[in-house]
Amino acid sequence: MAGIYLHIPFCKRRCIYCNFYSTTGSNLTEDYVSALILELKLRRMEITEKINTIYLGGGTPSQLTAQQINKLITEIYSCFEVDQQAEITIEANPDDISEEWLDGIANSGVNRISLGIQTFNEKELTFLKRRHTGKQAINAVKTCQKHGFKNMSIDLIYGLPHQDLQDWQNNIDIALDLNIQHLSAYALIYEENTLLWRMKQKREVSEANDEYSLEMFETLIKKLTASGFEHYEISNFALPGFYSRHNSSYWQDIPYLGCGASAHSYDGNNRKYNKPNLSLYLEGINTWHQYGTPNVSFFETEHLSKCEKYNDRIITSLRTCWGLNLKKLEKDFGKDFLNYCLQMATPHFKNKTLQIIPNQTDHSQSILKLTQKGIFLSDGIMSDLLYIDEQI
Ligand code: SF4
Repeated sequence: MAGIYLHIPFCKRRCIYCNFYSTTGSNLTEDYVSALILELKLRRMEITEKINTIYLGGGTPSQLTAQQINKLITEIYSCFEVDQQAEITIEANPDDISEEWLDGIANSGVNRISLGIQTFNEKELTFLKRRHTGKQAINAVKTCQKHGFKNMSIDLIYGLPHQDLQDWQNNIDIALDLNIQHLSAYALIYEENTLLWRMKQKREVSEANDEYSLEMFETLIKKLTASGFEHYEISNFALPGFYSRHNSSYWQDIPYLGCGASAHSYDGNNRKYNKPNLSLYLEGINTWHQYGTPNVSFFETEHLSKCEKYNDRIITSLRTCWGLNLKKLEKDFGKDFLNYCLQMATPHFKNKTLQIIPNQTDHSQSILKLTQKGIFLSDGIMSDLLYIDEQI
């Protein structure tokens, strides 16, 4: 099984914290959709497995018309063998959701909507320069549900300047009242080259301290797990049966084809990156289509070394509830890498931040996992286990 990701790099305006690739005020959406269709055709042979997840992310995919979305998904069905039970997700901004748009995508096969809500609090929304209000966010979820979407996800951000614990609890409570199936929550990050980062440089805002962010994260885990959500990845929670299959495949080493400007692809051994540049992308795809050979300037390919793959395995598996299968690690990378991993993990066993879970039926299939305490310190722990130099 494999996945397909389509990047839609259009936004009405920039949110202050965002470093995803997107453009504002572009009138190139129609050209872009045509280029995506060409890219899918040109790269159809790169994925021979059946497709069981499709994800339209951005940017803001809901800036596309329903007709454009239908065209893209129809093209995927005509180029690839798509599983009948495929999960098809579209990211949307709450203020783009309308009865008309939902009616328009009703027969596209989209069966999961991920709404970029971030917060329901008006002051926080204004600060982040989000386009919607809290009320619009609530209505967007309800409108999607009224249109039969039974797999709804929302994103929230915590650790905002001036956000107190009560504000954060209110956000979680509102989210839980909406009967959603999935929630992703991220601590606010001050990414370089964002407006937020420049505000921090000018001392107009300051980062929430680590202890405070940790308290918010703990509150999140407690409230969601008490409501039946499973904490299946550091930032992701879902009701049973509603894990994001697409994102889970990124953490389980499953190949995917990423199309569009800035999209990444992975075939098990190589990563391919389309450069984050809309005009370069359009020119590259059209030249490829016209002359039959790709113009190398719009993408790059990187062959992953054994060490890079080991590091990827550490980072992707430890962040999930499935953890790192040690037998598989040894099978794929050899005893030296297994020993290295266990050696670097030893201080964390002592600190009770990592644990080995024995498999009751097959003792050779033990799993290395973060403990509850380790989840709060995951970045440091994972980086300790990475292969850095010529150690092996
Ligand atoms: S957060 Fe989403 S809507 Fe805001 S600028 Fe980034 S991609 Fe666009």
